[in-house]
Amino acid sequence: MSDCLFCKIRDGQIPAKVVYRDEQCLAFEDINPQAPTHVLFIPHKHIATVNDITPEDREVVGQLFVAAAKLARERGHADNGYRVVMNTQRDAGQTVFHIHLHLLAGRPLHWPPG
Ligand code: 5GP
Repeated sequence: MSDCLFCKIRDGQIPAKVVYRDEQCLAFEDINPQAPTHVLFIPHKHIATVNDITPEDREVVGQLFVAAAKLARERGHADNGYRVVMNTQRDAGQTVFHIHLHLLAGRPLHWPPG
């Protein structure tokens, strides 16, 4: 989508600190980190919200989790733990309408979130 911020990051039109890339997804540091590790994993394919995920997206959505777990392991968060979360629509605080899996780690994370 031409006016999507994360499509522009995917296409290199807006800079980001990219930390992971494969055929299906891309990951970059969040611009406003809420934990020592705060990385966003996005599919190359533009999918606006979790509501828009279709059965054909199963593999790419699964790959977001595979990639997030890999990075969490590489950064030493596997044992202490981490959170992966995908905010959906207004009440959950979604602000960018291209699905992204947040990986948060490196400090104790409270539950329930605000
Ligand atoms: P949401 O609130 O939609 O779940 O998460 C959007 C996330 O994108 C926020 O954590 C926000 O800090 C991050 N973000 C917004 N604009 C940019 C940007 O231009 N670059 C990067 N790297 N992250 C951004």
